[in-house]
Amino acid sequence: MDSIQTDESALVMQRLAERMAEGRTEASARLAAIEQSMTPSWKAAMHTKLAALTRESASPRSKLPKLYALMELVSEVRSPHLACNAGCSACCRTIPVEISDLEAKHIAAATGRAPAVLPPGRHTIPGNAPGRTNTPCPFLVDNLCSIYEHRPFNCRSLGVVDRDSLTCSEENTALTRANDPRAVPVYMTKMLAFDPLFSELTNRAGTIWADIRQFFPAQTTSPPLT
Ligand code: SF4
Repeated sequence: MDSIQTDESALVMQRLAERMAEGRTEASARLAAIEQSMTPSWKAAMHTKLAALTRESASPRSKLPKLYALMELVSEVRSPHLACNAGCSACCRTIPVEISDLEAKHIAAATGRAPAVLPPGRHTIPGNAPGRTNTPCPFLVDNLCSIYEHRPFNCRSLGVVDRDSLTCSEENTALTRANDPRAVPVYMTKMLAFDPLFSELTNRAGTIWADIRQFFPAQTTSPPLT
């Protein structure tokens, strides 16, 4: 068993070395393909929808799912060019997911699960290296997102621009954490066009920001507040 794992690990390291040798070639080609998919008329229609939602006189609670729906339209266009797929949960296990109390209430309404009552301010999980966590998201079940239709802005926004999830592997994550020069950069893309409206909805007086793990602590382990 151990020798099989060693063989598999060596294979992953070899594939990582090959991917490293490619440089940004694959990611650049994929980003170009995404850009090409978003034709001028598609972009104009999206801009019109986003502007209409921004102007809409409605509560942040009611605008948030509409913003998510627009983001899904972008997801449909870019997903064929991303490594992200059902069953790949590396991000859900290793990356902090900051959400606001607005999104916590949205998830609570969808799941019936009450969020933790947190004091106003911005909270981070102590002991984590920046951008890293060792605690899986509480909504990750069998390597799938159990709240996929209601997942937060940050989960929708980020995507790994590669042909597969090799660079998301535990081996590569461990190399990255150790600042090992054999680590291969994980090229990620973000839906920046939605940031201004998301900020408008969430940045209010008294907004509470915390990791999804703090709003919805797992039953057995609760990341403490800073
Ligand atoms: S909410 Fe869903 S997509 Fe986001 S980190 Fe949790 S399991 Fe992953």
